[in-house]
Amino acid sequence: MAITTLPTHAEVAIVGAGPTGLALAVTLAAAGIDFVIVDRLAEGANTSRAAVVHARTLEVLDELGASKSLIARGERVSQFAVRDGGRRLLTVPFAALPTPYPYTLMVSQCETEAVLLARLRELGADVHRPYEVSSVVQDAAGVTLTMSTGQTLRARHVVGADGMHSAVREASGIGFTGSAYGESFVLADVAMDWAPGRTEVSLTFGSGGLTVVAPLPGDRYRIVATVDDAPATPDLAFVQQLMDERTPGQARIDGLAWSSRFRVHHRVADHYRAGRLLLAGDAAHVHSPAGGQGMNTGIQDGYALGRAIATGQLDDYEAQRRPIAERVVAFTDRMTKIATTRNPAVRAVRDAALSVLGHLPAFRTRLATELAELNYR
Ligand SMILES: Cc1cc2nc3c(=O)[nH]c(=O)nc-3n(C[C@H](O)[C@H](O)[C@H](O)COP(=O)(O)OP(=O)(O)OC[C@H]3O[C@@H](n4cnc5c(N)ncnc54)[C@H](O)[C@@H]3O)c2cc1C
Repeated sequence: MAITTLPTHAEVAIVGAGPTGLALAVTLAAAGIDFVIVDRLAEGANTSRAAVVHARTLEVLDELGASKSLIARGERVSQFAVRDGGRRLLTVPFAALPTPYPYTLMVSQCETEAVLLARLRELGADVHRPYEVSSVVQDAAGVTLTMSTGQTLRARHVVGADGMHSAVREASGIGFTGSAYGESFVLADVAMDWAPGRTEVSLTFGSGGLTVVAPLPGDRYRIVATVDDAPATPDLAFVQQLMDERTPGQARIDGLAWSSRFRVHHRVADHYRAGRLLLAGDAAHVHSPAGGQGMNTGIQDGYALGRAIATGQLDDYEAQRRPIAERVVAFTDRMTKIATTRNPAVRAVRDAALSVLGHLPAFRTRLATELAELNYR
């Protein structure tokens, strides 16, 4: 890709064109706000990352004019199931959710980014690449961004949508409180014969760890599993053995398209704003991939921040969005702890309680609403 000419001034500069930065850029473009968005990569990443788009995110993408083409590229999943080994404890249907999108959409992050970028271009804007921000300095009148090329960009406000190792957050001095999970996370995209089938996302409890299986477009599945000890690139035999231990008799893996081991952090920025610098997406919060909420929360941040800028309500942004990140971190933490308890008495009580609660429509609706992020409207 040719290096695009970088403007020298803008009302708002967005650092990072991942899903968060793109959602913000589309929101600002639609509102007619003058902005520039830069990314250090010559083109968008095409690695396997987020695969789940929740109902609330689809509502936001609808506001941005991007939901239809994303839905056309994905696969709809109508329920969420909880199991202990091979035993089903709970089924949470999404069908009755009060939303035009009563399902979870399985679609690759690259597609989500491609749809947002196409919408941005439709609105007459584009990402400036490759420009890496190497210095961020704010003063009373604005912020100066210096690129690694030496070029500068002056803006009234700068948004760090530059991911977990955010340079904007570093420059702002805002703390990133939290820690790393003790266990590793294994992620694998596989072709497999999976007994529960393709209509649900399933979460399996087990003393060895938590295991999530979700269908991916293209007849594949995404496996996410917490593991005490795993090789850096788990092979098919490793993943098959993991599934045999945790979901006995349910999974026969035929092919491994991609796998990796991650150390995952759970952290939330102490503030989302320091003067003229603002944070959104992974720059502001990171959590376990088990709930599939990282990218979703980021897109919703981008939209909320864009609306706050467009309506001159910047002070509301942190108050509106930071409690949500704290809640997502607490929810995924709690889920992981409940799912992986090694105490047999606690497990028995947990399983019995879930089986009973699973018959209560109000409980199922509450859980479906939390998973779909609809209470974050
Ligand atoms: C394997 C994996 C699986 C995941 N699964 C899920 C899932 O199922 N569901 C879910 O919701 N989330 C998932 N996530 C998390 C999700 O990918 C992130 O939450 C999401 O990408 C965050 O988007 P973002 O735009 O905030 O940051 P990023 O996607 O990290 O984008 C940041 C951008 O900033 C650019 N940048 C960084 N520094 C600079 C700089 N100094 N100058 C210029 N540009 C810069 C980068 O090049 C990048 O393009 C997963 C992540 C991984 C790695």
